[in-house]
Amino acid sequence: MIDLRSDTVTLPSAAMRAAMHDAPLGDDVYGEDPTVNRLQQVVAERCGFEAALFVPTGTQSNLIALMTHCQRGDEYIAGQDAHTYRYEGGGAAVLGSIQPQPLSNQPDGSIALADIEAAIKPDDIHFARTRLIALENTIGGKVLPPGYVTEVARLVTKYGLALHLDGARVFNAAVKLGLTPQQVCAEFDSVSVCLSKGLGTPAGSVLCGDQSFIERAKRWRKMLGGGMRQAGVLAAAGLYALEHNVERLADDHQHAAQLAAGLGAIEQLQVEPVQTNIVYVHVPQAHTAALEAHLTAHGVVAQIRPRTRLVTHLDVSAAQIGDALAAFQEFFARA
Ligand SMILES: *Cc1c(COP(=O)(O)O)cnc(C)c1O
Repeated sequence: MIDLRSDTVTLPSAAMRAAMHDAPLGDDVYGEDPTVNRLQQVVAERCGFEAALFVPTGTQSNLIALMTHCQRGDEYIAGQDAHTYRYEGGGAAVLGSIQPQPLSNQPDGSIALADIEAAIKPDDIHFARTRLIALENTIGGKVLPPGYVTEVARLVTKYGLALHLDGARVFNAAVKLGLTPQQVCAEFDSVSVCLSKGLGTPAGSVLCGDQSFIERAKRWRKMLGGGMRQAGVLAAAGLYALEHNVERLADDHQHAAQLAAGLGAIEQLQVEPVQTNIVYVHVPQAHTAALEAHLTAHGVVAQIRPRTRLVTHLDVSAAQIGDALAAFQEFFARA
């Protein structure tokens, strides 16, 4: 099967499983799991922060960050298309009493600086207290321009706010830009990194921040479900991924470009420009159901919609991209 639905579908390799099997373990709620401690230290260092906290998911990591930055009655500014606003069940509002202030994302994934500045509310009892700006990088597979982040950071300083990065795919951004993760994360107060997307682990995210932020975050983690005890079995997968699966993200980007070029050559399809590992292709509505069935019959798993998202990852090879393209081509030759 060639599964192009998401980069979350990867299975741990034999070598990653061996690393998990052999990991030294302890009770992480006592702070005694050496593998979790090492993972937290390594991710903090790689992203340029004092401290980090291992959590089960990116959703929990972002929620902990929002609740650590914001109090009840505060608000955070985020893009309409941001995971922290659109795809996390409204958790910040439901569990944190934090008001989201969503703003339109521009075609490049950014939020216009003027829109941000206009949405920052003055100190007035009528308004929620604007406390935080949350960005996402990559967003929809697009890399935020580094200069843009600097401009947002300037607003953050000017208005005394904080800046959070949903860096679920921040390693994709760093590889694409030819920068270190530390450089990409430099202007943020906190960053959430997913290990279970392109890095290919079965589970886990890491929230980075300064020491006091992470201490406060740990209390929210407890309230949101708690720590995971001998979580070193999962943290070991993260350490393995950081060593072996970062540079190879360039392969995923190459495969996405290969996929986009092949799909773009099909007359009935329109492909959006591709930067990293996510391809968006526009499929005529009349063909969506039949195309999905055709692909399934040819071992290609994808959810075909008028705007279809296809994602490359470490379990899809260049040859398999070729096979997937052949299935698309065969369908549209007869369509
Ligand atoms: C996947 C994802 C998350 C959430 O991660 P989960 O581990 O699935 O909860 C957050 N932000 C972005 C941008 C993501 O792609």
